[in-house]
Amino acid sequence: MRHHSPYLPHRIMLLIALCTLGLPATLPARELLIRDVTVVSPDRSAPKAHVDVRIRDGRIVEVAARRLAVAHASVIDGRGHFLTPGLIDGHVHLGSDGGLRDDQAESHPELLQAFHRQEPRSYLYFGFTHLVDLKQSEDFVATWQQQPVAPGLSYCKGLPFPNGYGEAFLPEPSRNRSPYLLDDPAQHEKMPADYRAAEHSVAAIVAKVRATDARCVKTFYEEGFAGLWNWPVPSNELIGEVKQQAKAAGLVHVHHANSLHGYRQAVESGVDIIAHGLWHWDEFNGRDDLPEPIRELLDRVIRQGIAVQPTSQVLGGELRLLEPGFLDDPRLADALPATLIHWYRQDDAQWFLRKLMENLERTELVTAFLGHPPSGERTETSRTGLRRLHQVVHYLHEHGGRLVFGSDTPSSPTYTNPPGLNGRLELQWLADNGFTPLEILRMATLETARTFGLDDDIGSVEVGKRANLLLLDADPSTSVAAFDSISVVILDGVPIQRAVLSARHPAAR
Ligand SMILES: [Zn+2]
Repeated sequence: MRHHSPYLPHRIMLLIALCTLGLPATLPARELLIRDVTVVSPDRSAPKAHVDVRIRDGRIVEVAARRLAVAHASVIDGRGHFLTPGLIDGHVHLGSDGGLRDDQAESHPELLQAFHRQEPRSYLYFGFTHLVDLKQSEDFVATWQQQPVAPGLSYCKGLPFPNGYGEAFLPEPSRNRSPYLLDDPAQHEKMPADYRAAEHSVAAIVAKVRATDARCVKTFYEEGFAGLWNWPVPSNELIGEVKQQAKAAGLVHVHHANSLHGYRQAVESGVDIIAHGLWHWDEFNGRDDLPEPIRELLDRVIRQGIAVQPTSQVLGGELRLLEPGFLDDPRLADALPATLIHWYRQDDAQWFLRKLMENLERTELVTAFLGHPPSGERTETSRTGLRRLHQVVHYLHEHGGRLVFGSDTPSSPTYTNPPGLNGRLELQWLADNGFTPLEILRMATLETARTFGLDDDIGSVEVGKRANLLLLDADPSTSVAAFDSISVVILDGVPIQRAVLSARHPAAR
């Protein structure tokens, strides 16, 4: 129902063009010509004005600094506009709970449905035409790809550790049941009765992943969020073995780590991507400046060419939950259905905030994270984490580290990491923390594409690439605020007016 309208204007426009040209009503190669536009693409050192771009069958077939013949193309007048590749978010979790607790989702299925209906459109609205879900199932991906209007999707298989992060949250009957569960000989007596270790060797798991079309695997080093839990973690040897076998199978290896200990493991085992910035400084939590041992570790991250996703919005989302006002942000009404925003204003919806507050009242945990007793100001831990993240990311940036884009949307069951908007907020954090607009554009397009092996297909405005593009009124090489001026999102060569992707638009209901 909801899917057809965004395409309609274009289809009609195309048919009218064909009729006036007296061509047969059957559609020839679908062509789109963007005329006289300024191209801002990460493969170029500077924007290039007065360019014509021809798109056929969803691909860019011509990029020329001259006027191209119209032939049977529909035409977009690009004068005064800027054309960039669509943004790529390399760290999302699709099909989530929308900030509803299980029982709330059960009693309000219409709210969760509305959230899931709007989710792909919100990513597109904020300019994200390709996503990488770091832990997803084939069934979900197949369903996602059947939607007529949805960003492109690549995905990883999560390889959980027995009774570790993720598994520990599951109820007993489904815990440690994943076919991709890594084997831990030390925990065999805690495994389900029908558990067979041979099916969980690294070789067996990587073979199972290869049978899917996942592009990457994700492993986890998570001790339990600064002492909130105490989960078992994999050994460096095990993660190193995953890395070796993944590499041999042509899979990218993403590692969840946000602590000094997790980063040490990432470096020792040589993973490809670290999925978070480093904001738990463990034994150095008391330090204000970046301690020498962390600098040395980051030097190794840089030398080994390990890519890092800062994911500042993990902490940004916490901060927005703790501070008033986010539900009044006018951009939220583009990202989320009004019925859902209305529900978030109710006391019931504050369940995750209350949980967070309970944790923040555990003085010994907060003291351990801060490295000193808390001041009583409830945003102190989030702000401390953001300050540490700034120092780590600044160091990587200054010393030639490889940073790739990932928003971690959503990072927890909260409404403060909304689809699409959360990525826009991540772009802003990068701008506020010393990255130039061109560096940010490169990071959120070509660099992220390269890191996931997608750069043959997407990430720049070049001949041969998929026509996932954005038309903007302002120049993204001078400010990230230009991404608030997107007018048209081009998805697989089909132009969609940005406004129809908004949750405010009647087509979204
Ligand atoms: Zn994540």
